[in-house]
Amino acid sequence: MTAFLFPSFLRRWRPVLALLGGLALFAPVMAFAATPVPPPPGRGLFMDLVATVRDSKVRVSFYQSTRFWQSPTGKAKDPKLVLRIYRKEVPSLVFGIDYEEILNDLRPVAADLIWNGPLPAINERKYEFTDEHVQPGHTYVYWVSSDQGDAPTGPKAARVRDPQTFWPQDETERRMAALAARYPQLVSESEIGRTVLGRPIHALRIGNRERCIALVGAVHAGESGPELIVPALERILAEHPEVLREVGIVAVPTVNIDQRQRLAEGYPYYLRKNAAGVDINRNFAALWGEVSYAYGLISADPEAATYFGPRPVSEPEDVAITALVAQTKPLALFSFHCVAALTGTDFVRSTASAGDAAYTQKCEDVAKVYVEAAAGPTPGPHSRLFCTGGSLPTLMWKEYGAPAFDLEGTELAPFGDMPTAEQMVRFRAMHARGILATLRFVAQKP
Ligand SMILES: [Zn+2]
Repeated sequence: MTAFLFPSFLRRWRPVLALLGGLALFAPVMAFAATPVPPPPGRGLFMDLVATVRDSKVRVSFYQSTRFWQSPTGKAKDPKLVLRIYRKEVPSLVFGIDYEEILNDLRPVAADLIWNGPLPAINERKYEFTDEHVQPGHTYVYWVSSDQGDAPTGPKAARVRDPQTFWPQDETERRMAALAARYPQLVSESEIGRTVLGRPIHALRIGNRERCIALVGAVHAGESGPELIVPALERILAEHPEVLREVGIVAVPTVNIDQRQRLAEGYPYYLRKNAAGVDINRNFAALWGEVSYAYGLISADPEAATYFGPRPVSEPEDVAITALVAQTKPLALFSFHCVAALTGTDFVRSTASAGDAAYTQKCEDVAKVYVEAAAGPTPGPHSRLFCTGGSLPTLMWKEYGAPAFDLEGTELAPFGDMPTAEQMVRFRAMHARGILATLRFVAQKP
């Protein structure tokens, strides 16, 4: 084959040409060995950049890209490789309105260089850096690069939430367990199911087991629940335990634990669905599959934030709550929504119940008691039609005829996720009053 390529007049030079050809083949490798590989234009040398919040600090981690890791220079494994970490604050991010589009035009131009030096690599491939100079309520974006002329990898955003007003799940569970330990005669805690990612969903049963009301939180991850429900339980147990012997409470402070934990760990944008991409409040059996166009979305679309799921009660969170209400048959149910850690007194009930006059009156009676105890005398009606097919209030109406509401509305509404400490105190007291008044009201009923 080779001989065929050589014209006869060059044949006598063939050994020399072969040697030159061989050298030419090796030339690029020799060049690699002599100087560092310039990174391909536009490519970063790092990948899988992650920014997570723990203990109010941002942990930035990233891997060497495969191309870099396999570089024949061995530079990637050089412990003295200079890494550069850039940070920029995004003060304009509005929770619930802005998503990744806010990052589109961001470049590490005029960003702060917060690290410029070597870092030890885990297994010679992974780097970690902790940014301690961050503040609650602020959103930061990060990029990483090296001194090799590579394009920065990023941006990756992290929002630092105040752990006092937006609880990580371990705080919720610690406080639930503390109630069960402190009031063993009145409070019991149990696991009622597991989330999509296998996290246990805990419920508290408090006081009377025959007659109870239900409190459900954070069906939608970026919304309220544990920070209002658990303090209300603490207060009622401490100050009014007698009423609980008449009417009990069944409480699930956090349903959508997987995605709420992501938010607590710094995911910057509003999250609604569970980890499988299903809206838990569209997946209950009652009137499941009825297409809703609320919020300009289409609930039959798997890509919509209101997706109702592949079939009724396909989600483990829906299985758990469905079984709990079947077992406990609450006389009224309040599901906490709105945004972040707060919800107000905008009570919404099942739209499908519109023609049910007796049910509408029952809802008005219960909502009036709660709303007025919470917020003072207000003109009625004290709830409105809004909840769709597949929602928890629709299940409670259709299966049990029990007044049931999604709680919406705050002074932060329509969007915002950073309540002040003063707001938290006020809203906790407000809901504790509403829940207590509801217990007393139900206790008077035959
Ligand atoms: Zn909601």
